[in-house]
Amino acid sequence: MTSSAAEPFSAGNFQTWLGQITLAISEGADSDVPCGSCSACCRSSQFILVADTDVAARSVIPAELLFAAPGLPAGNHVMGFDAQGHCPMFGDQGCSIYDSRPQACRTYDCRIFAATGIDVAVDGHTEIAARVDQWQFELGAEGDVALAAVRAAADYVTANAQTLGLEYSATARALAAIQMTTQP
Ligand code: SF4
Ligand code: SF4
Repeated sequence: MTSSAAEPFSAGNFQTWLGQITLAISEGADSDVPCGSCSACCRSSQFILVADTDVAARSVIPAELLFAAPGLPAGNHVMGFDAQGHCPMFGDQGCSIYDSRPQACRTYDCRIFAATGIDVAVDGHTEIAARVDQWQFELGAEGDVALAAVRAAADYVTANAQTLGLEYSATARALAAIQMTTQP
């Protein structure tokens, strides 16, 4: 279900969010995205990592939907999408395996694109991009400084994407920019 492009959604306090997404990136902590009725990332022709550690997900995802994950050790898989670009676990009521969904789904947070200004639409994810356009962070003076630092890192990553090997993924560029900003 798509949302009206004109309707803003609160993305929360920027610095609080930056702390949370840092934990999600570094430690795999779950994200807490106020998605509402949006399900764009489940319907955007994305390959979902089903890691060897995703025991609960593996117990409910049919084996025939899993393919060896390129570049990762044996035992890690990806799950593809159907002809409509939907995750095969996505149904009329949303995620059919929500309580057992892979960690990649638990950590996904499209606010990384609102924070970095990196356009996820260049990867063809136009519905996610429409949702990203609706996010509005609460800033304030300190938040402005933190946001400027993230944007500067994003500019660097974008300008050096090929050198960094990140030219094929807006998600990888956005995550790299945030890591660059928050790592000591
Ligand atoms: S695109 Fe963003 S808001 Fe929509 S379901 Fe995914 S994480 Fe939630
Ligand atoms: S497993 Fe569930 S949460 Fe993850 S992409 Fe598929 S439908 Fe969405």
